[in-house]
Amino acid sequence: MSPRAKARGGIDLGGTKIQTVIVGARSQVIGAARTETPHEGGPAAIAAAMADCLREAASGAGYETSELIGIGVGSPGEVDDRKGTVAGARNLSEWIEPYPLRNELKKALGAPVHIGNDVQVATTGEFELGAAKPYKSVLGVFWGTGVGGGIVLDGHDWLGRGAAGEIGHMVVKKGGAKCPCGNRGCMEAYAGRAAMEAEARRRHDKGEKTDLFKLMKHKGKDRLTSSVWGKALHHEDKLATDLLERAVDALGAGIASAVNLLDVEAVILGGGLGIRFGDELGPAIEKRMNESLFDHDNPPDFHVAALGDLGGAIGAALLAKS
Ligand SMILES: [Zn+2]
Repeated sequence: MSPRAKARGGIDLGGTKIQTVIVGARSQVIGAARTETPHEGGPAAIAAAMADCLREAASGAGYETSELIGIGVGSPGEVDDRKGTVAGARNLSEWIEPYPLRNELKKALGAPVHIGNDVQVATTGEFELGAAKPYKSVLGVFWGTGVGGGIVLDGHDWLGRGAAGEIGHMVVKKGGAKCPCGNRGCMEAYAGRAAMEAEARRRHDKGEKTDLFKLMKHKGKDRLTSSVWGKALHHEDKLATDLLERAVDALGAGIASAVNLLDVEAVILGGGLGIRFGDELGPAIEKRMNESLFDHDNPPDFHVAALGDLGGAIGAALLAKS
């Protein structure tokens, strides 16, 4: 078969954006597209946006989607691989009941579709192609709208009974801030972009000064995206700096707890905020992690995800390899 016949598609479905790629036989990216995740219209609207976005990537690479040997999807929420459904994706519009994502995408795109957990496929992507290549056991931490975790132990994905890796919901402060999941004191309640935004709004409404919302409007956004946080940090906005420091503290504490339990060789920091702030705040997160390690003399290696913004989609495309 020619390399052209072996192209695959990958879709990374996030709370803020949908990223798609077309990859060749060696997982090299030959096309990519990105769109904002629809805020309304529920799963049907989101699935339609995913299909459009993949078509755009395919056309950029000179392909029809029906020519792809397969399409992999990394999705948040509860993924039922057998039924091809996704349920309980809390960060997405009206996506609570199981939705037949695999069949809908297959109908729309004309190629076989495989669905996996977004964070796990991104971790597998880093494990096979990115920063985690030299290791056998790694923890992927994806700092974005929420905070997700992916675990590879001795070369195998660790999924538990299906819900493993929820590092964002490790308790870093007993009885602490309310988390989007409903519990209190989770790492995500301090570090997730959505929770940080909610806290920024609360404090802003109470009269604390910040340019965060001005910057948001200036950029034509309706939420505090990672680029808005980045701008505010560079303007030394006090509220933004405070909230990012709080996030760093929660991330470091939570990651240390997970490392104390699993003793992985490396921690890989990814996700929208993780990629954007990896160079700037990664060392502070690593330092905070080291403070809470049990085995101070032997910390794991700490890397920013090497596949960058496309990592989730490239990892998803690996699902279509088999
Ligand atoms: Zn939680």
